[in-house]
Amino acid sequence: MPRFLELKVADCKRLNADYFELWLEAPSLAPLCKPGMFFELKAQTAAQERKLFKPISVAGVLNDRISFIIKAIGPGTRALAEVQPGETLFALGPLGNDFPLVEGKNVLLVSGGVGWPPLGFLSDLLKERNKITHIHGGAGASDIFPCDRAYTVDGSAGEKGLVTQDLPQILTDQNIDIIYSCGPLPMIGAVQKIAPKIPHFASLEAYMACGLGACHGCVVPVGESYLRVCADGPVFNAADIRWEEI
Ligand SMILES: Cc1cc2nc3c(=O)[nH]c(=O)nc-3n(C[C@H](O)[C@H](O)[C@H](O)COP(=O)(O)OP(=O)(O)OC[C@H]3O[C@@H](n4cnc5c(N)ncnc54)[C@H](O)[C@@H]3O)c2cc1C
Repeated sequence: MPRFLELKVADCKRLNADYFELWLEAPSLAPLCKPGMFFELKAQTAAQERKLFKPISVAGVLNDRISFIIKAIGPGTRALAEVQPGETLFALGPLGNDFPLVEGKNVLLVSGGVGWPPLGFLSDLLKERNKITHIHGGAGASDIFPCDRAYTVDGSAGEKGLVTQDLPQILTDQNIDIIYSCGPLPMIGAVQKIAPKIPHFASLEAYMACGLGACHGCVVPVGESYLRVCADGPVFNAADIRWEEI
């Protein structure tokens, strides 16, 4: 069982109007972090005292530091955006499982919105030994991060439309062997529907309360059962998910 910690903020900087990057000092935890894993984070403000922790994926690791790329969309993430270097915040982690790694494959990464950070981290680990194609989509320009092909719903950056719209062509052109995805459930379900025969590992962004497997608030239909995204995932074999029940 991971311990609840107070971690020191090394840096917290705005990336654009919606996103910020948070770096935490965590010498004993940084070596344990793998792509797909997440932390439960909470700012130490009076307003956040009785609020739930927020699940945030590990976006990268550098020496003793762990980075997170966060979209400030509500009270929890906005409070995290205000933390200052030298302050501490509450953290639990690293939590969850990680993406299985491969070698010598044509890899497709498909991310949507805040699904980019764990796949950016995964790309860093896979790129030496695989050929990577990363496609990424979001609502607008601020959601777009480095990738091979970007899509926005409002057309303000990249191609106008959904990240899945050119998928059949990309699968053929790049001769894709394996897919990794992270983003909204409908996006992941669409990828699985288009490519049911290609191995596909997906990190799910379910609504989450405790983050430790106790409350069962984040279950998804997997195999013949229901599994907890926080404790049994967040990474699942997309073929095992009963998409018709989501
Ligand atoms: C495993 C996991 C990893 C995540 N990693 C990241 C990350 O790296 N970066 C990042 O910015 N965010 C990430 N998220 C999403 C992040 O946890 C939520 O945006 C955050 O909890 C919102 O909290 P809030 O108090 O700011 O806003 P709230 O007031 O709680 O929510 C604001 C709005 O976002 C919606 N919302 C909240 N949580 C989710 C969710 N899980 N899925 C869909 N909609 C949601 C709410 O319905 C509401 O409309 C992740 C979520 C999970 C489950």
